[in-house]
Amino acid sequence: MEAANPQRLVMTIAGFDPSGGAGIITDVRTILHFGCRPAAAITSLTFQNSEAVFGAIHETADSLRAQVLPVVQEQQVLAVKLGMLPTAELIVEVVRLIQERNLPAPVIDPVIRASSGYELVEASAIEALQRELLPLARLITPNVPEAEMLTGISIEDEQGMREASRRLREMGAPAVLVKGGHLKRKSRIGFREDPRQSVDLLDDQGEVTEFRDEWISAPPVRGTGCMLSSGIAACLALRLSLVESVRLAKDYVTDAIRFAPDGSGEN
Ligand code: PLP
Repeated sequence: MEAANPQRLVMTIAGFDPSGGAGIITDVRTILHFGCRPAAAITSLTFQNSEAVFGAIHETADSLRAQVLPVVQEQQVLAVKLGMLPTAELIVEVVRLIQERNLPAPVIDPVIRASSGYELVEASAIEALQRELLPLARLITPNVPEAEMLTGISIEDEQGMREASRRLREMGAPAVLVKGGHLKRKSRIGFREDPRQSVDLLDDQGEVTEFRDEWISAPPVRGTGCMLSSGIAACLALRLSLVESVRLAKDYVTDAIRFAPDGSGEN
């Protein structure tokens, strides 16, 4: 029998930021925005506000499994978003759960460091992500510093973004979205391309799509990576193509930056 609520279920497995700026609260808001129904499992209880991260208590493999299993045993999850995965133990467990329960290939936001500089994940988790998780992904969505850390390639321009996405595909990810926003900030002086644009590159099995958007000169907004990845997951649950999903999720993030209360929008 059809469930009472026919909305499509999207599960986020990510960190909890009590301030609501990033992590699960942001994912849930985004999933609801796209008309899907959110389910969530916490990987880490973090202590933070808009200024800084003060610490975190990570979940264990057992406590993650205990959160995910009852949900996926009862309901069909149509898309999965993975955010902060702070330990190798949690990554191995996520891999096990995906394989065992035949969960949809996840959209992975490879969260490594908070904007404030705090390292959110252990070094061994980065290795486990590269080795174990990338081959199971539907898409990985690194920003420039994350792509550099995952590939060892120094990214100065769009060519570097293309090389990094190729490398990540060689490491097993079928599709890579490298977000160029940080590139803009990194090479503000002497930036060779159009300074009024920000560029993200989607490499889907070698087919590259460029997303060029107006560069919005506003203070950094927290949680944009969470919004983008969970928005893409929600659109995939709605059976949109990967390119359409990225486009719609990017538009959502662009509006969030434009209309941020302390940004250059109208709020
Ligand atoms: N905290 C959690 C739980 C997150 O998932 C993330 C990023 O995804 C962050 C903090 C970092 O967000 P920001 O870069 O906005 O500080």
